[in-house]
Amino acid sequence: MIPLRYEGDIYRPPSEAGSLILQATIGCSHNRCTFCGMYKKKKFRIRSLEEIEQEIKYVSRFMPRTRRVFLADGNALVIPSEKLLQILQALDGAFPNLERVSVYGNPQDLLEKTSEELVELKNHKLGIIYLGLETGSAAVLRDIKKDVTPEEIIKGAAKAKKAGVPLSITVLNGLAGLEGSENHARETARVLNQIDPEYLGLLSLIPVPGTTTYRHFKQGKLTSLNPWQLLEEIKMMVEGLELTECVFRANHASNYMPMKAILSRDRETLLKELNQVLIRKAPGSLKSEFLRGL
Ligand code: SF4
Repeated sequence: MIPLRYEGDIYRPPSEAGSLILQATIGCSHNRCTFCGMYKKKKFRIRSLEEIEQEIKYVSRFMPRTRRVFLADGNALVIPSEKLLQILQALDGAFPNLERVSVYGNPQDLLEKTSEELVELKNHKLGIIYLGLETGSAAVLRDIKKDVTPEEIIKGAAKAKKAGVPLSITVLNGLAGLEGSENHARETARVLNQIDPEYLGLLSLIPVPGTTTYRHFKQGKLTSLNPWQLLEEIKMMVEGLELTECVFRANHASNYMPMKAILSRDRETLLKELNQVLIRKAPGSLKSEFLRGL
């Protein structure tokens, strides 16, 4: 039996704070996005089933009541379905109270899986997929080297929806700079409307030193948005959204103004609040710079 051990820095969505984190993959299989420095130091690999099963066995002795598990790293959804199913079965066997297993996934990972495979994974407690949309703009997706088109993202997301696996989509406020802000907001709303996710998380871009995006801002190829312009961009995106039951959260440390809403119910209230803040522009309504961080 081997103890639970982590390789390098571990990242997880804020909503997985209470989950057991198990590293099923090391790094991100894509690892090319120009704004992302999370897995640059890691060479991607999928861990062996034997290693994962041993760790599950080990943790189950100390945390037998585990209800939620998050499979790290960058995109554990890339694991071939048969193996992912075996991991889910091992988790279910080890934790009698297990309710849900979640993963980060890329649109490409969803496109690789068949609808039948996704249904099977769902039936074995794959309960949420965190999908980084970042933007709905085709041009920005190209610039950030996401290597996927908006239409492919919509197609991949539709497969998850059809299989009944809830999606939590992440969007990056400020990603396109001031130059591309309007297009980023409007196209992101357009793509989100077609996906109609269960959850939408908004983060504000904080360029990471060492990344291409950071260089582009430093060299003046992109202009940073000030806090009010970031809020304008959010307002523009929210104005374009027509989602059914989406839980919207912008409560990440990077955001200047924490927001939480069920969009079908609270959209108008949220827009009203944003308008008021943007009219008054009172510095007190923004989070202090030193409290922002990733
Ligand atoms: S943003 Fe996601 S897909 Fe892109 S490199 Fe980072 S972890 Fe990988």
